[in-house]
Amino acid sequence: MAIILDGKKIADKRLEILKEEIVDSGLNPRLATVIVGADPASQMYIRMKHRACEKVGIGSVGMELAGDATTQQVLKAVAQMNDDTDIDGILIQLPLPKQVDTERVIAAVCPDKDVDGFHPFNLGLLFSGRPRFVPCTPKGIMTLLAEYKIELAGTRAVVIGRSIDVGRPMSALLTNADATVTVCHSKTKDLVKELNRADILISAIGKAHFITREMVRPGAVVIDVGINQLNGKLVGDVDFAAVKDIASAITPVPGGVGPMTIATLMENTYRAAIVKTCETV
Ligand code: NAP
Repeated sequence: MAIILDGKKIADKRLEILKEEIVDSGLNPRLATVIVGADPASQMYIRMKHRACEKVGIGSVGMELAGDATTQQVLKAVAQMNDDTDIDGILIQLPLPKQVDTERVIAAVCPDKDVDGFHPFNLGLLFSGRPRFVPCTPKGIMTLLAEYKIELAGTRAVVIGRSIDVGRPMSALLTNADATVTVCHSKTKDLVKELNRADILISAIGKAHFITREMVRPGAVVIDVGINQLNGKLVGDVDFAAVKDIASAITPVPGGVGPMTIATLMENTYRAAIVKTCETV
């Protein structure tokens, strides 16, 4: 039976520590969020992020734009937040509606306020081995692995998914930690063979119970990023019940990667308050 990597417990512990650090610092970190439209899942995530801010003593302000907002309108909102010296971190809730140019919006966020770490400047630093603001989900996973003292150097890590928010930055962080990394995606040939080589298997594809017992090497560490609905229940990409008996460690869904993502957003926002100035290196 695998060790359960309890993201909820670790995230709560880190938020407690962060709360004390913020008080001791005398700083008043402030996060601004932008949501476009009324997608219920996005609204729920925004509420969770604002609640986490409240819990640790980070101020938060939310801007809501109509679902038919244009790229120009979203850019204007971002520009206002960039110029507001009381705002330390800016989070654009993704996905944006189809008519909005997401890449332009992300690139418009001041890199020093880019607490999601999606700006090309910050991604470039991550990929050149000098991470600054790092996307919250993969960074949260690294923190979770470190908290459970899971060794990465010299291991074979396989990441499934190549998105900008999870798969790609995850692969960079694992490379920076001296793992040998393979990134799989929908065009990967013989996925099962690739997965069976993994000491560390990280799934970020968004398909319920896609990862079965046969795909997992005995003793592997399995990190499940997926958030999916199955028969009215929240489940991950991994068939947890079947895989937990063969893995050495595994994250549950819910209660694994999700809470670590939010805790990392809080840590990134505090970091932005320390950096403060809006100069690029
Ligand atoms: P995404 O942008 O849709 O990317 C999905 C990736 O999975 C793509 O690279 C895609 O390959 C790959 N893929 C899809 N089907 C595949 C298959 N059959 N075999 C191999 N690869 C396949 O998704 P995302 O934003 O990375 O999110 C992935 C999941 O993680 C979602 O469930 C999302 O809700 C969840 N998530 C959770 C958190 C959290 O905090 N827990 C944070 C972010 C995301 P191609 O590139 O070839 O299309």
